[in-house]
Amino acid sequence: MSGRNLLFVPGPTNSPDRILRAMHVPMEDHRSSSFPALVGPILSDLKKVFKTETGQAIVFPGTGTGGWESALVNTLSPGDKVLSFRYGQFSHLWIDMMQRLGLDVTAVDVEWGEGAPPETIHELLSKDTKHEYKAVCVVHNETATGVTSDIGAVRKAIDAAKHPALLFVDSVSGLASLDFRMDEWKVDICVTGSQKGFMLPAGAGIVCASPRAIEQGKTAKLPRCYWSFEDMLKANATGYFPYTPSIPMLYGLREALNMLFEEGLENVFARHHRLAEGCRRAVKAWGLSVCARAPRWYSDTVSAIMVPAGFNGGDVIDVAYRRYNFALGAGLNKMAGKLYRIGHLGDLNEITLLAGIGGAEMAMSDVGIKVDLGSGVAAAQKYWLETATPLPAKKVAGPAESAAPARRPAGVA
Ligand SMILES: *Cc1c(COP(=O)(O)O)cnc(C)c1O
Repeated sequence: MSGRNLLFVPGPTNSPDRILRAMHVPMEDHRSSSFPALVGPILSDLKKVFKTETGQAIVFPGTGTGGWESALVNTLSPGDKVLSFRYGQFSHLWIDMMQRLGLDVTAVDVEWGEGAPPETIHELLSKDTKHEYKAVCVVHNETATGVTSDIGAVRKAIDAAKHPALLFVDSVSGLASLDFRMDEWKVDICVTGSQKGFMLPAGAGIVCASPRAIEQGKTAKLPRCYWSFEDMLKANATGYFPYTPSIPMLYGLREALNMLFEEGLENVFARHHRLAEGCRRAVKAWGLSVCARAPRWYSDTVSAIMVPAGFNGGDVIDVAYRRYNFALGAGLNKMAGKLYRIGHLGDLNEITLLAGIGGAEMAMSDVGIKVDLGSGVAAAQKYWLETATPLPAKKVAGPAESAAPARRPAGVA
């Protein structure tokens, strides 16, 4: 099919050409004397994205799911009590992993459309006077429902209960798109992946561990080998890996970090917020609602759009793909059929998102959902015009650029 297959699934996200080109490299010896010059700065630059001075960033060949496993097996022992909350498919899967690894999980069910409840965390931890809970695990941005939790409030609840539990956070679809403050929120392990805010293909499980989490690992008894922080940190300290890293992934990650820093992290977060708000205006103009039950839960990286009764979100996605060659996200688990998702994270601007919103209008009309064509597009456009960003300065060619001969292929006038 002609035209670009734009992705509005909330991961993998659209990889910018710049990153794809950076990844197109010949393989090299990952034990060469120059390899540490690539690895060292990537690991220290990642810490800026997690906003930590004291934490250690780790890049596993793997995915976010591997990152989850690494957090658990490096810090806990069989039968340890952990507290977690189920409010979407991803929090559900992480809890399932905790159970399968032999942890004693208190999994609190929360309405899908809401996030981690600080009040409940405070209540349960206050009652745990013997400090049996070893960790609290929460998903920062529940990608299945488009809900963002307030991790600062979670930290305050743990501190108010004077509880020493470690705090583990899944920010797979948040980090590098939403503000994340590892040190300020005293997060012990943050888990992410390469294919969301970092705009890369899937293939890296990226985690950051606090000194406390690393220290606790020395006595924790869950078995670990591939996911061992200790092995990884020992090799990373000299700029190497305990096994073969994915070389294109590292070059891609280098380029992604460059792009994020060129734009400025705070500008990246502001861009995501503004684009997300435009998308929410579109949903409202359609007369539909998002799954997130209140503004405090709105996610700036993904909107989960409830389809009217009698329709199936899966049909919208299917038509979008087969007729218009673009990808919307599906409703998962309890939400299967009830919603479809527009991911708005990573490499995108107003014009990219207008394609997703306009395309969703066409696909919804195709399956019989009554929406006024153009209503969502117009609502988003209006919001973005009202909140227009400053017009960038015109690019004037410098002396070096203007002096350079224009390069044209031979034979072209
Ligand atoms: C995508 C995602 C995951 C899973 O990551 P994989 O890279 O697919 O293993 C976990 N948690 C959240 C919140 C996600 O969005």
